[in-house]
Amino acid sequence: MGYLICSKCKSYHELQSGESPRDLRDHCPCGGKLRYVENLDIVDPRWMQIIIPPKRTKGEVLREKIEVFSLENLKTRLNDFWNKCRYRLQSTQNWDNHTYYDTGMNPLNAIKNELNLGNIRWTLVIPVIMAITLILTFVPGILTLLTFVLLVALGYTFNNQIIGAKNALIAGAISFLLGSLFSGSFLLLIPYTLLGVINGAVCGWIGGYLRNIRSQRRI
Ligand SMILES: [Zn+2]
Repeated sequence: MGYLICSKCKSYHELQSGESPRDLRDHCPCGGKLRYVENLDIVDPRWMQIIIPPKRTKGEVLREKIEVFSLENLKTRLNDFWNKCRYRLQSTQNWDNHTYYDTGMNPLNAIKNELNLGNIRWTLVIPVIMAITLILTFVPGILTLLTFVLLVALGYTFNNQIIGAKNALIAGAISFLLGSLFSGSFLLLIPYTLLGVINGAVCGWIGGYLRNIRSQRRI
């Protein structure tokens, strides 16, 4: 007669008279592949005896396939899909409702932060703008270098390099615009503002970079 054994879940099926391994399923209910053996000599007596059901007939296979596409199944699938859509919609709404400040170095959050002005720390940015404007208006010359220091410092106060650069960029743009306005160089208004943008971005980026290096060293 012989046996069908599954070494995965350590169980065996004793073939009945007239039962051929070909009539039975190839796989054990655990998913393991069944193997035919003449006797159980090689098998540990503690193995479990199980019943392997006969192979599915074509009719049964067809019925199973039809069940997959049945109306009930379709309904559940649609329901799942709808729930997922609703969930996504809700999470997008949540994004808009929140104002994100420093969110660490998660690049996804950083990109999302780019889309709003909520992460501009005006309490820091405005004093920097005022300081740079004053420097540009009243003390041109070597002290202009101080503006770079201020912008780097501004970038340094942020945990997130991108947000820091963005804050410094805005501070640079506004302060250079105001500086050129007050110092009367109207012709240079646009190039000066652009210079402020570039200065702010670069200095803010450097500031964030310096902070990253320091925080990494601390770890
Ligand atoms: Zn098994």
